[in-house]
Amino acid sequence: MDIPRIFTVTESDHRIHNPFTPEKLAALGAALRLEPGTRILDLASGSGEMLCTWARDYGITGTGVDLSPLFTGKARLRAQELGVADRVEFIHGDAAGYVSREKAGVAACVGATWIGGGVAGTVELLAKSLRDGGIILIGEPYWRRMPPTEDVAKGCLAGSISEFLPLPGLVASFGRLGYDVVEMILADQDSWDRYEASKWLTMRRWLESNAGDEFAKEVRAQLATEPERHVTYTREYLGWGVFALMRR
Ligand code: SAH
Repeated sequence: MDIPRIFTVTESDHRIHNPFTPEKLAALGAALRLEPGTRILDLASGSGEMLCTWARDYGITGTGVDLSPLFTGKARLRAQELGVADRVEFIHGDAAGYVSREKAGVAACVGATWIGGGVAGTVELLAKSLRDGGIILIGEPYWRRMPPTEDVAKGCLAGSISEFLPLPGLVASFGRLGYDVVEMILADQDSWDRYEASKWLTMRRWLESNAGDEFAKEVRAQLATEPERHVTYTREYLGWGVFALMRR
């Protein structure tokens, strides 16, 4: 079980696989007023930066589940590096349908709502692992500016304009699911650059060390086009945020 190889090349050096800086991730943890000992379930936990830094900074315990063996391995190393390996565990596996045995105080899916077939399905999935009164975290894109054409949406790597909502629409949709939005931290254009632009040097370095790899042609093509695509489309049109939800 693995994710498509392009991500494990372009994001091999990322600790945070979404448009958040370390500062924004820490601000989110602080905003949630986490009690030490709070259990967090993180579906699609990537390289584990959220659980590891929050275990260090806020004393939480947690479990992450991710489909990438590379990212899961990095998460375990990070836990050791930060001295929290006794408080967080990382499972390599499919998070679609994953329900934890022990209920969590916080259940999160930050930047992978396809695991539940969209925001509504992912909220429903996370709710199954959540204790009464717990908090759900959803990380999701929204249209910061409405794309004027379907081609612009595709330039943002969205399937269509209808794949995402503008921010007021996204926030309203959580209400319709029966949840209060109780906190929110948004990405900005500079934090998008940290996610996207840091892939470019990773790709360049990978190409220098893997010139003979059959995958090099694809990585070369991406490096040649991604900077312009990012500044033309994603950086202008796409927003992203993490929303904290509590059942009404
Ligand atoms: N939440 C992490 C990672 C977001 S990127 C962070 O913010 O850093 C999306 C992640 O989803 C990747 O780590 C990818 O490996 C993982 N993923 C994709 N499909 C998955 C699935 N079906 N089950 C579990 N993880 C999945």
